[in-house]
Amino acid sequence: MDEKQTKPRRPLWFWLFIGLGVVVLFFGLGAPNVLGSANEQTVTYDTFLTALEEGKVEKVELKSGTLYYTLKAENQPAATAAPRLNFGFRTVSGTSSRKATVYAVTAMDDPNLVDRLHAAGVTFSENPGTGNMLLLIVLQYAVPILFYVLIFSFFFRRMGKLGAGGGLMGSFGKSNARSVAGGDVKTTFADVAGQDEAKESLQEIVSYLHNPQEYTEIGARMPRGALLIGPPGTGKTLMARAVAGEAGVPFLSISGPEFVELFVGMGASKVRDLFKEAREKAPCIVFIDEIDAIGKKRDGFGGNDEREQTLNQLLSEMDGFEGNSGVVVLAATNRPESLDKALLRPGRFDRRVPVELPDQGGREAILRIHCNRIKTEGPIDLSAIARITPGASGADLANVINEAALCAVRSGRHAVTQKDLEDSVDVALAGKQRKSMVISQHEKEIIAYHEVGHALVAAKQKGAAPVHKITIIPRTSGALGFTMQADEDERFLMDKQEAFAKIVTLTGGRAAEEVCFDSVTTGAANDIEQATSIARAMITRYGMSESFGMTAFEQMVNPYLGNDTTMNCSQETAARIDREVISLIDKAYDQAKTILKDNRSKLDEIAHVLIERETISGQEFMDILNAPVALPVSVERKEE
Ligand code: ADP
Ligand code: MG
Ligand code: ZN
Repeated sequence: MDEKQTKPRRPLWFWLFIGLGVVVLFFGLGAPNVLGSANEQTVTYDTFLTALEEGKVEKVELKSGTLYYTLKAENQPAATAAPRLNFGFRTVSGTSSRKATVYAVTAMDDPNLVDRLHAAGVTFSENPGTGNMLLLIVLQYAVPILFYVLIFSFFFRRMGKLGAGGGLMGSFGKSNARSVAGGDVKTTFADVAGQDEAKESLQEIVSYLHNPQEYTEIGARMPRGALLIGPPGTGKTLMARAVAGEAGVPFLSISGPEFVELFVGMGASKVRDLFKEAREKAPCIVFIDEIDAIGKKRDGFGGNDEREQTLNQLLSEMDGFEGNSGVVVLAATNRPESLDKALLRPGRFDRRVPVELPDQGGREAILRIHCNRIKTEGPIDLSAIARITPGASGADLANVINEAALCAVRSGRHAVTQKDLEDSVDVALAGKQRKSMVISQHEKEIIAYHEVGHALVAAKQKGAAPVHKITIIPRTSGALGFTMQADEDERFLMDKQEAFAKIVTLTGGRAAEEVCFDSVTTGAANDIEQATSIARAMITRYGMSESFGMTAFEQMVNPYLGNDTTMNCSQETAARIDREVISLIDKAYDQAKTILKDNRSKLDEIAHVLIERETISGQEFMDILNAPVALPVSVERKEE
């Protein structure tokens, strides 16, 4: 049907153009003055009057203030007696044609002219010059109208495309769900690593779709919908496809934003069409990705009519089909808190399936799945990669593997090595290396001391994660170097001491600058930001401050998208919190400086190795740190 509806669209333009062409041709060229315009000659009025009195004038025509006339004699083939030269035969490039000379004379206010013309037996007429006037009108009015028609048809076409690729006006709200026939979805649960609990929840839906009778017999009603919630990139979309793949039923998928249309009511009619299609294909899965685009809470403040209508339609459609119609609605979102309550009540999306960020084991499993798709070489230790990527989502990890493969190709190799993988993590973390960047020796020293400062402070504290890598190669993210720490095992809790140790470690970079160069640089900006947010969270959210105790002053707004918080306290409290944050960070900074002063010789030694090698591993770092002190000069300093 799409085909048929697509066709009439073009002819509309086409006919409009043709129509305009015809109009222009007709008025512009089809109505010239009757006498023809060849051989025109301008004469004076008295010449005309003389010719008229002499009875030579044959035909007169008045047109826009000018009289055109021809002479009798000239229209006779042998009229040699005619006074003018250019009459009779005229030869134009070999073709002979005969044209009479037309004389043009400016009309004068001559009231007797008509009588005289009549008396002389001359044919006379007036041509109001409509031809040109009409052409003008066409140009003035028709062209702009045509222009608007074209603009409109352009928009209709676009809406048609969004709608269904339908006709000019025909099927606005046709749901443009991508439909995959049963058994054609190749994704299965095997492609989704880690998310075992989510898989388990969805397994029930799969077995229902396989065998609905079993459920109907006992009188159980299947959940109509399941809502996959979790941070971006954790595999929600992947999981929904896997459910369809496992169940082997048709899969209708559409993304929330695709419902949102220019005109009120179109989104709603798309929803209607979607569910109509689903009922025809049942048993099947309807998947609405990013449902928050239409499922936002309806609030009292002049909401978005289109979105609300779409949501209402969705709500009523989900109520509309009977419990066991075989249509299961899956939806995914990373903003569950913004969804309308009505969507979440039993009977609609009554099953919530959290799809959280993977833990260390999950990360390793995800890496393995993606690693199996590429060629590798040498020993590959994916658990090491999993250890240095805490907080990474499935999508991040898939990207790490892909970057490693790209890196291998770039350097002309045919397989990915462990080093490619590790470099790829750095790229994900801090951007690509900027080898072209020229850094002066002095600045290089400052950067090295800064990074070693972090590492040393971390190593000398209880509760700080071990150092994994220190590098001073500048990165495209703007980082001039970084120190990577990695816990042996995944951590789920952080105690107060560890949180404080983290702040101390973050201030270690700046502390090293001050201790060694007696000056401070802008390089610590990011450390300061992070230290402040941890300190603030300790006080306002984690109840780790003596003076405030267990009171929450800040709330997370959307847990899955960044760590936005809202303050919820009086101005005085806010000021007190600020003071407390400042003193907490001051305390950490002092501690970092003390650690560095106490270990000054090691700081110098490691910094020099780092300047030389540009990157050192955690192991190398620990080796130098644990080696007996080599430089006697530094020992003296230590004892100062
Ligand atoms: P979401 O919809 O949650 O934002 P996607 O499902 O689109 O995330 O995931 C993006 C990509 O990340 C997937 O195509 C897949 O390659 C990878 N991915 C994410 N989670 C997993 C996982 N658990 N197992 C395997 N691959 C995953
Ligand atoms: Mg998605
Ligand atoms: Zn730093």
